[in-house]
Amino acid sequence: MAETKEKLLEIKALKKHFKLDRTSTLKAVDGISFDIYKGETFGLVGESGCGKSTAGRTIMRLYEATGGEVDFNGDNVHAKKSKKELKKFNREMQMIFQDPYASLNPRMTVKDIIAEGIDIHGLVNTKQERLDRVNELLKTVGLNEDHGNRYPHEFSGGQRQRIGIARALAVDPSFIVADEPISALDVSIQAQVVNLLKRLQKERGLTYLFIAHDLSMVKHISDRVGVMYLGNMAEIATSDDLYAEPLHPYTQALISAIPISDPEVERTRERIIVEGDVPSPVNPPSGCRFRTRCPFAMDVCAKVVPEFLEHKQDHWVACHLYDERYNDENQAKQQ
Ligand code: SF4
Repeated sequence: MAETKEKLLEIKALKKHFKLDRTSTLKAVDGISFDIYKGETFGLVGESGCGKSTAGRTIMRLYEATGGEVDFNGDNVHAKKSKKELKKFNREMQMIFQDPYASLNPRMTVKDIIAEGIDIHGLVNTKQERLDRVNELLKTVGLNEDHGNRYPHEFSGGQRQRIGIARALAVDPSFIVADEPISALDVSIQAQVVNLLKRLQKERGLTYLFIAHDLSMVKHISDRVGVMYLGNMAEIATSDDLYAEPLHPYTQALISAIPISDPEVERTRERIIVEGDVPSPVNPPSGCRFRTRCPFAMDVCAKVVPEFLEHKQDHWVACHLYDERYNDENQAKQQ
């Protein structure tokens, strides 16, 4: 992670609601706050439907925010902007998608796909410069010059993700949102793409928001991890801390569900089983949103929304079990 811990993004009480009809609203993201430091990878995890992808898209202004703020280098992303300012933002922030095939125009050659951003932002003056830049990008992501003249369908999933990465890099961004970039790939290819992203980060000083539904995937790439549940942030910690000492019962359950390769450890370890499905974000439970599935739920959990508190340095959690105001009830529960 960046040694200076200088903030690149500050996400403050960010909300993204979708109005479904006159009476119901889907609260996909409902007031999340966190910082992303320059040069780090922030992993964002949670089950499908928890709001993580919507959060990523709202941070990039692909969706307008319903409430809250996203500051990028101190500048509010969602403030009214001139075309020129928006163009500058679009260049700084790029996205890599889960399904690179769906996001690559099948009728364009790879060369033209990669050069699209270069053309839009007028980054080169001649055709030769454009070609040189594309070839350099192809090389950077482990492809070769010949690949530039082919079409997306001629490539494997892993290669298509490399094309998606080259396209994102073409405009020289400082921040990349990677939305489940390896979920659709074979396990053997996943590690290659993660290693490529890590190398690029080192070489170019990139900052990543890495979105995944699987905690084992984010472990190897993330400096810090945020766990989302039903539109809220449940816990944020450094990657090492989160895996060594998960605090929130939901994080504990996610971690205990990761398979361990040693069969003896796998057989004897304690599992935290979370029952039932994720409730609807249209009508979330009162108090703590996890209470309908939490094995440790107390009376207070239905009445009071847990505050997001710093339990120890750089380790934040939203759970009444760690809030000393509810110590009496916690102890009664444990007896
Ligand atoms: Fe469980 Fe209550 Fe903590 Fe929510 S606040 S995670 S219901 S113990």
